[in-house]
Amino acid sequence: MSKFPADEQFQSPLFKLPPEVRDLIYCRILLNGAKTQHIRVYYRYPAPGCLQRGPCSPIADEEFIKEQISSDTSSEELDSRLTDYARDPYRNGHFNCQQILKDDPRFQEYQLSSAVPLFLTCRKIYREAVPKLYSFRFNYFADALLFLRYARLAELDRIRNVECFMEIEYLADVDLRELCGRLANLTSLQRLHIVMDPGQKEDSNVLPVKWLDMLSLIKRPERYEVHVLGLEADESESYEPASEQRPFVLWRKREPAWIYGQAEILAKGVKAIPDVCKMYSQPVMKDD
Ligand SMILES: [Zn+2]
Repeated sequence: MSKFPADEQFQSPLFKLPPEVRDLIYCRILLNGAKTQHIRVYYRYPAPGCLQRGPCSPIADEEFIKEQISSDTSSEELDSRLTDYARDPYRNGHFNCQQILKDDPRFQEYQLSSAVPLFLTCRKIYREAVPKLYSFRFNYFADALLFLRYARLAELDRIRNVECFMEIEYLADVDLRELCGRLANLTSLQRLHIVMDPGQKEDSNVLPVKWLDMLSLIKRPERYEVHVLGLEADESESYEPASEQRPFVLWRKREPAWIYGQAEILAKGVKAIPDVCKMYSQPVMKDD
């Protein structure tokens, strides 16, 4: 890039606009107006191993629930939908995105088209717009791992923002270790957001602790959030409706709270996480 500096293109009306407006235009073209995108690896359509981009257009939980309710919905039916909803990986508004990313030709029109034509327009547009393309949300752990495994090194160095959902019970330690290693190596990663679902197995109380240990290998992001779902759920069988279930958040700017409280978490298990975070991450949170 330095060998061929971008022409400033002062004659172009586009570059007379404020940069913020150009940002909106790039988001409109590259992400269908969304702020970020979902990346999925397809196993069937259009071809196995094909990567697809879909706009991230979350709909608020309440809006989604309202959509599910019609006059003939029985209260039992609604109950079971809310239960599914509370346990679903796409909660927090991403049901809408899930539709767009379905492995189904009918949803193809919602997928994002190639960014290449815009990038070929001119060097200055490329330089300005390319960071918009390097912000991802992975709905499946496997997608994140495959993407990071096969992306070219130059592309990996551009990645700024990664969000990833992880279901602990479906995950092998070796894969998690690999993913953490690959995330730790992203030189430009500024924001990392991980949602962990400990699942329903007997050892779901122990596993997140092991995970946090591996996740603490990732040191670079300035903003690093880990949401552990269901930590505050009580012992009873029933789930709280999504709007009342608060996922627990580990948050940091520089250091994860669980590094300080690790001994405590290891000794007492996952139930100690809320206390540890209260103790160690509160001052940092006030700072923000
Ligand atoms: Zn989304």
